[in-house]
Amino acid sequence: MDFKGQVAIVTGGGRGIGRAIAEGLAKKGVNVAIADINLDAVNEAVAAIAALGVKAIGIQLDVSNSESVKKTFDDMRREFNRIDILINNAGITKDNLLIRMKEEDWDSVVNINLKSVFLCSKEAIKDMSKQRYGRIVSISSVAAFMGNAGQANYSASKAGIVGLTKTIAKEYASRGITANAVAPGFIKTAMTDVLPENVKEEMIKLIPAGRFGTVEDVANAVIFLASPDSDYITGHVIHVNGGMYM
Ligand code: NAP
Repeated sequence: MDFKGQVAIVTGGGRGIGRAIAEGLAKKGVNVAIADINLDAVNEAVAAIAALGVKAIGIQLDVSNSESVKKTFDDMRREFNRIDILINNAGITKDNLLIRMKEEDWDSVVNINLKSVFLCSKEAIKDMSKQRYGRIVSISSVAAFMGNAGQANYSASKAGIVGLTKTIAKEYASRGITANAVAPGFIKTAMTDVLPENVKEEMIKLIPAGRFGTVEDVANAVIFLASPDSDYITGHVIHVNGGMYM
């Protein structure tokens, strides 16, 4: 995988899966912008990534806010003057059964998880179209494909990413831009650490591999789709779930 001189932006790159993706790209020589709402996490990630010998910058970003997205990409253009890779990773959960789910919890999950992919892709495609090259990888979820009780907002937002990804793939393939998604199963991060132990034990019974995934399991698939080696793959989803859904 030859990433020489490339530039990536990873939303929600301050911690968890996003940080592992950013570190994985940096280890391949990619210059990285960590764009996250959590400034402490951004600063910590930038220090760790810069130590890998690439250029790393941190930007405080709210992916659901169009002004914040626009400012982020303007900062990117000033710093790097190109954008090769967009990783749409930032995401949240606000779980509840459908009839108890507040409208504001529906809106914030859909805006942060799905509208964000529309806003960030729209900005990145401006640069990628001019370059005639780009890789967009968005993080969906197994919940998009199986549904999950208590996650109406989350599973709808993650399923929306798949439709949006296929449409971007069709619209921009002729410009050398690919758009793909990675759908993780249960991955060990802060998002899943909060689950009660008995729920985690029940989940592991559903996973043929018999374990939760690691952030590196997800990052490895994302890095392949972000690389020049995946040139003829677009509009697809790679499932990273230990066989839980196939
Ligand atoms: P995480 O540990 O909670 O990290 C998410 C990062 O995104 C955090 O740094 C968070 O900031 C940031 N963020 C939240 N809202 C944001 C916003 N509005 N704008 C910019 N950044 C924002 O999550 P993760 O487990 O690594 O998950 C990463 C992605 O994978 C998400 O899209 C998630 O839905 C997806 N996923 C995760 C799993 C899993 O099992 N973990 C499974 C399937 C899919 P704060 O620190 O302030 O929260």
